[in-house]
Amino acid sequence: MSTTKAYAAQSATTPLAPWNLKRREPGPHDVQIEILFCGVCHSDLHTVRNEWGGTIFPAVPGHEIIGRVIKTGDHVKNFKQGELAGVGCMVDSCRECDNCKEGLEQYCDNGLVGTYNGKEKEGDGVTYGGYSKQIVVHEDFVLRISDKLPLEGVAPLLCAGITTYSPLRYWKVGKGDKVGILGLGGLGHMGVKLAASFGAEVTMLSHSPSKEADAKKLGAHHFILTSDKQQVKSVNNYFDFILDTVSAEHDYNMYLSMLKTNGKMVCVGAPPTPAQVPAFNLIFKRRTLAGSLIGGIPETQEMLDYCAEHNIVSDVEVIAIKDINECYERMLKGDVRYRFVIDMGTL
Ligand code: NAP
Ligand code: ZN
Ligand code: ZN
Repeated sequence: MSTTKAYAAQSATTPLAPWNLKRREPGPHDVQIEILFCGVCHSDLHTVRNEWGGTIFPAVPGHEIIGRVIKTGDHVKNFKQGELAGVGCMVDSCRECDNCKEGLEQYCDNGLVGTYNGKEKEGDGVTYGGYSKQIVVHEDFVLRISDKLPLEGVAPLLCAGITTYSPLRYWKVGKGDKVGILGLGGLGHMGVKLAASFGAEVTMLSHSPSKEADAKKLGAHHFILTSDKQQVKSVNNYFDFILDTVSAEHDYNMYLSMLKTNGKMVCVGAPPTPAQVPAFNLIFKRRTLAGSLIGGIPETQEMLDYCAEHNIVSDVEVIAIKDINECYERMLKGDVRYRFVIDMGTL
């Protein structure tokens, strides 16, 4: 075991603060990574404040990890010391169920092992995330990272990138589709960039008037302020596809009404409170309401390669780890342009 510096929440009501954790020594198939950057996802905040329930304390969040390999186990084939490497939201799964065999490890029938707040498959250890100096991960869950793009902008691709890429690809969004991206935060801004790059007509649906100019710079063709009744009415029965990235309670019905016949709304945002959706809002116009969880390892690699080829990165504000609690408050106010990324050199 080696001791690693980290930032942890000791309870749902205490701020994140320095804490030392223990990492296992790399086994034959493990890769040990020195963490350079870690993105700040709203799921980190939901978890450390126990908003979804089930948080194991102390909790060390962070699942948008970019770093450099410092050590590899004897049987590791795909990574060498000194190379760049990435870790997203999962560090293990059963590898035997139908989903795992298909590369859909996020839907593992026996439960994925989250990068943080997870239970390790071997032993009874708890997983701790990327707000730390180093991490040890089985090579099957480590991603290859191109050296062509700025690393701080690549880190958020490992969650915000794949979580928006996967549903857009699964539902074959592209040229000729009218797409609404709901919520302009970490996930939302990647949704805009990716949907636009796939050739769709993209409309930003936001409750923040100050984000209109940015939405257009990111690639949105239109902007609808969701608090303006006239603007909302103008997109009634309009969209083929809506990607809902909102982190807080909101009225799903208002957005379902924006779908045309056979339109689909996919929830990736995970508010802690359940939504009320009358069946009639789906029955009329044969609408679909669906959900999607991150993406499997093969698709995450495909997304990273696609972004490297098309020069797509996240727009980030690099922060020092000591400012993390203040940044959580800003994230709650929707005041992020558009992802905080921690420079781990500051830990
Ligand atoms: P974020 O950066 O905080 O963005 C959320 C956005 O939602 C805000 O920027 C804001 O956009 C909008 N919003 C916030 N409060 C709102 C309210 N009360 N009413 C309407 N809109 C509101 O968060 P994120 O990191 O993108 O994560 C978004 C959600 O996705 C979180 O719940 C997170 O846990 C979840 N998530 C899910 C997956 C998955 O696999 N499904 C993966 C990662 C994250 P505007 O200012 O533009 O309105
Ligand atoms: Zn995330
Ligand atoms: Zn499985």
